[in-house]
Parts: sequence; C-alpha cells; structure tokens
Amino acid sequence: MPIFLVDVNRPSLFGSPLAAIDDTTMSRYHAAIYDGCEYGCAYCEGWGLLARPLNESVRMMPNIAQHATQELALMQPDDVVGLVAESDAYQPAEQRFRRTRSVLTILAAQQRPVVIMTKSPHVLEDIDLLRQIHLQRFAMVIVSVVSHSPDLQSKFEDKVASYTARLAAVTALKKRGIPVGVALMPLVPYINDTDYALTQVIQQVAAAGADFIYWDYLQMPNQRHRNRMNDIMIRVGNYPISYLRELYRDGVAIDARYRAERDAVVLRICDDNRIAIRLPYALFRGKFGAAYTISHIIAHQSSRDALQGRDVLVAQGNALAEEVRHGEWPIERLQSHPTYALFRELMPSSNAGSPVL
Ligand code: SF4
Repeated sequence: MPIFLVDVNRPSLFGSPLAAIDDTTMSRYHAAIYDGCEYGCAYCEGWGLLARPLNESVRMMPNIAQHATQELALMQPDDVVGLVAESDAYQPAEQRFRRTRSVLTILAAQQRPVVIMTKSPHVLEDIDLLRQIHLQRFAMVIVSVVSHSPDLQSKFEDKVASYTARLAAVTALKKRGIPVGVALMPLVPYINDTDYALTQVIQQVAAAGADFIYWDYLQMPNQRHRNRMNDIMIRVGNYPISYLRELYRDGVAIDARYRAERDAVVLRICDDNRIAIRLPYALFRGKFGAAYTISHIIAHQSSRDALQGRDVLVAQGNALAEEVRHGEWPIERLQSHPTYALFRELMPSSNAGSPVL
C-alpha cells in the first residue's frame, strides 16, 4: 500500500503544451492526475527516473477541479487533454479519491476533448461521463496491454487487471460508441514481439472491437533502468545480459534496424486483421475545427509513412500538419498530399482549389 500525499507544491495540472501534437493520442497536453503509480509495472520507466520507488507514494493536487477550470480557460477549444502521462488515471487510488472523475466532470461541463490511456477496466465506471463528453465533443480511451500470456503478465505487471478483463473493457467501450484503441507496449525484444505473440494479440484485439492499435518499444532512459531490466529479463526468460546490451548499446532506444524490421511485421499483421494503426478519420469527423482535423489526418498518414521507412515524406507531412494546425493553408502542398480527398471538403472555400485528378 503506498503513502498518499497531498502535493501543495505542484504548480500545474495540465502543464505546458507539447511542442507538437502527439499524433497517437491526438493530444496537445499530457497530464498525470496522480504522481506515482501503485501498479509498479516491472518495465515502467518511472523506476529509473524517480529518486524513490515508483509505487512507494502517490501524490495528489489539492483543489484539482479548481486547477482544471483555471487552466482550461487558457487553452484553445480544440486542445485535447491527454490523461496519459507517467501514471495510470485509474490506478486503485481512483477508487478512493476520484480525482480523475473530478477532472472529467469539469471537462464534460466545458465540452473539452479528452483522451485516457489506462490498464484498468475501472475506466468503465466513468463510461457515462465519457460518453457524454464524446457526444458533446470528443473522448477516446486507449487500453494498454503487454501480452496475451498470463505467465508473462504475472512477471511484468502482476498488479493490473488481466488481459482478458482489459479486452472486455475495450468491447464495452466500443459498444457504448466511445472510440477505443489498444496500446501494445512496451514491446520487449524476443519476449512479446515474436511473430507468434504479435499475431495472437493483434487478432484478439481486433476481435474485441478496438478501432486501432498502437505499439512502442521498451525504453532504457538510464543505467539504473538498464540494470533493473537486466535483472528482470533473467527472471522472465533466462536471457544473458548481453542480449539487451546488444540491442540498446547503452542508449535509450532500441536498435533502429531491429525496430524497423519488427515494425514491418506488426504493420503487416494489423493490415491482415484490418485494424488501423491510428484512430480512423470517420471516428473523429466533425469533432474538431478544420485546422485540427486536417492536421490529424496528415499526421496519421505520416505515422504510416514512418513505419514504411519513408523518412522524407514523414518530415514533409509533419511539417505540413503543424503549419495547418497554426492556421496556414499551403494550398499546393495540401492538394498534392495523398489524403487530400479526405479533407478537401473541410478546406476554407477560398483555399480548396481544383480537384486533383
Ligand atoms: S500502469 Fe503505466 S505508469 Fe503505472 S507502473 Fe504501469 S507502466 Fe508505469
């Protein structure tokens, strides 16, 4: 059981806006309702980044609803708040303190868009609130899983709900009309990223009704985390320490060639199972202004280009998405973008130009 603390020194709930929109969560702000995470998943970067153990204490802002109200007044109406950062908004503390519900209530009252990433089916306890937000504006949930294998889950994340319970939450959210994705992360080399493991999870996620899937790889932010992961990997699969060292070479990110090869496999399995890799446009159509919508469509295409190694197109697409989001309309570049047919109807009429044949 962690120590629960009221943190009177935390200056802001939502923090500063991100330099660019996070295209996975479509969010402009990343916020942690709770500082610290009771789940304490073995692979969590928080173990390496915090001075004290990740699950030792959970800190909460006082007057969180008041903070939310004041900070929302300074944001743009289309800015998506992502409750996705560094802790789980539905960890057990939420059952007792309901800080996440307080913030969702404010977001609903102000008709503000929100995205939540969680491992907990307790998100379903706020399903009516989420549905209200989505009907008025936009709400999306991303459920995080690491493996279909109960054995692996028990070694990596023994305090969170079962994989089956999380997929059931995906189905329940989908049935209530809330856009829902699954984050398959972290992918740990040779553990949960084999062709067999990926195929199992992606097939089951698609069958559960998820709208899209997202994945990312284990990161090693510092030596402390590398040491920790080395110990864990020996327990998980009797692996020699050298295997992670060879793929990370004392860096934060996995070897780029290994990543590209695995990305291609994940993308192929997603395509085979007809599941998107970002939220399909049809599910956020009409939810944002033209500039935000078009920039999301372009950024989502860039995500796919990145997985296919089209680095020049990625850089061009991301730059274009940011320009549009800032209210610029570079008409020739927009007309030549492969997704133009999707967003042409949204262009201000003076900028729509002639159809591209
Ligand atoms: S739920 Fe997320 S934030 Fe919490 S310990 Fe696990 S990985 Fe870290």
